[in-house]
Amino acid sequence: MTENNTPTALIMIFGATGDLAHRKLFPSLYRLYKKGRLTDRFAVLGVARRSLTLNEFQDSVKKSIVEFTGEQDGLDEFASHFYYQSHDVTDSSSYIQLRELANKLDEQYGLEGNRLFYLAMAPEFFGTIGDHLKSDGLTDTAGYKRLVIEKPFGHDFESAQELNNRLRQAFAEEEIYRIDHYLGKAMVQNIQVIRFANALFEPLWNNRYISNIQVTSSETLGVEERGRYYEKSGALRDMVQNHMLQMVALLAMEPPIKLNTEEIRSEKVRALRSLRPMSLEEVDQYFVRGQYDAGTIKGEGVPAYRTEPMVDPESNTETYVAGKLVIDNFRWAGVPFYIRTGKRLGSKSTKIVVQFKDIPMNLYYNKDTDEKLTPNLLVIHIQPEEGVTLHLNAKKSGSGMETTPVQLSTANQSIDRMNTPEAYEKLLYDSMRGDATNFTHWDEVALSWKFVDTISEVWENTKETTFPNYAAGTDGPQVADQLLEKDGFEWWPVENLEIDNC
Ligand code: NAP
Repeated sequence: MTENNTPTALIMIFGATGDLAHRKLFPSLYRLYKKGRLTDRFAVLGVARRSLTLNEFQDSVKKSIVEFTGEQDGLDEFASHFYYQSHDVTDSSSYIQLRELANKLDEQYGLEGNRLFYLAMAPEFFGTIGDHLKSDGLTDTAGYKRLVIEKPFGHDFESAQELNNRLRQAFAEEEIYRIDHYLGKAMVQNIQVIRFANALFEPLWNNRYISNIQVTSSETLGVEERGRYYEKSGALRDMVQNHMLQMVALLAMEPPIKLNTEEIRSEKVRALRSLRPMSLEEVDQYFVRGQYDAGTIKGEGVPAYRTEPMVDPESNTETYVAGKLVIDNFRWAGVPFYIRTGKRLGSKSTKIVVQFKDIPMNLYYNKDTDEKLTPNLLVIHIQPEEGVTLHLNAKKSGSGMETTPVQLSTANQSIDRMNTPEAYEKLLYDSMRGDATNFTHWDEVALSWKFVDTISEVWENTKETTFPNYAAGTDGPQVADQLLEKDGFEWWPVENLEIDNC
């Protein structure tokens, strides 16, 4: 088995000529290697269809590392651990060759039979690959065997269940590592630490003191060249089913009795089980959608979603979702969790805003100007800034007793930020060490799909006549503001909450 700090493994990457492998996986492995978190006892076996010589493949690995890390120290030595086999994953005959190469590398590098199968390819191949890994003996190994699988895991509950049942023929649940790269982000992992390591917050973390929680993940990018995929997915499946609900689960869960994978996951599952289900008729009350029109971002004109490549000119696909989640348990009864996510918005930002209730009697309420005190906010900056800000009220300097908002901030400063490990680096390392805490368990995936399926069913069957309903470069559609106005709240504008503005 693995020694915890320096795992040994054969990492087999399916889709090794693709974007994910080049932008994230190779650079992350390189960083792990540089930090001594991979010993010399590792090998990477890349698999994709195109025909490449060993030199060409190793050159492509080096190129991606130079491009995405800006470093090249020890690069030749690192790249010498990489091997390649041209292989169509739908071609049953070539898995035997793959097995032979895997066995050879196992012996050559002393890998103790440890194997990590990383599926960095389109999801329609996941089932086929899983079947073959088992039937052609790649999973018959003396060490561990683990399957690391990219999103999307299914298209709805039914297809996810079908895929899961198929994969479970070859891998046990604890051997399947479903990636949600948000769970690898430093500040998402920090949610638990902020909550459970501070006497200050946990006593207040409930419906007596919190008025609402807002989770925003906004992008400035459009759909780029992913139109074909996005048309079938939309923001709901692409972002809400996984990343947004995972953040909500971490914010809402009860403290685990121990910090181990099983306990943390079971509390997250309980939080997801407490989400109030909606009937089809209720969906419109809780969720709204948007689609971007042409607009301007950073001074440049950008096209409407419906004119993007491989997008239906009449598309009904949402590029924006806002929703109100209600968690029916003792801790959260009456506290709405608002989520919103979208493409082509005014800023790129992922933030959580915890808004505390007003104090019972406000001595500082300004009767003349009718100005209320700003509520206390705890802002968790996930990306691109990483940090935490606490918004308080303090006395304005001078002789009067007027108040002014002040902020206490902690930020990973630029130098640290550069050193903040990439989510993929952490997740790869965890999967090699056998730590599945920051991967999604099937129970979480199933509950999230069931929740989201109700919304998809309504949206797919009703043409949204107001689309496109927000201009690129804005804060999203008006319906998202109305969703909160109904409850007497408003979205905290993320651009005003940046740490640098505080
Ligand atoms: P991509 O650039 O299109 O790469 C796909 C890879 O699959 C290529 O290496 C391709 O190589 C290989 N491939 C395709 N058909 C094959 C076949 N029949 N047999 C063997 N290899 C085959 O896709 P990607 O962006 O890397 O994404 C991969 C997966 O990661 C997807 O599930 C995606 O949703 C997920 N993901 C990607 C990102 C990202 O940042 N890119 C982020 C999150 C999730 P050949 O053409 O040479 O066969």
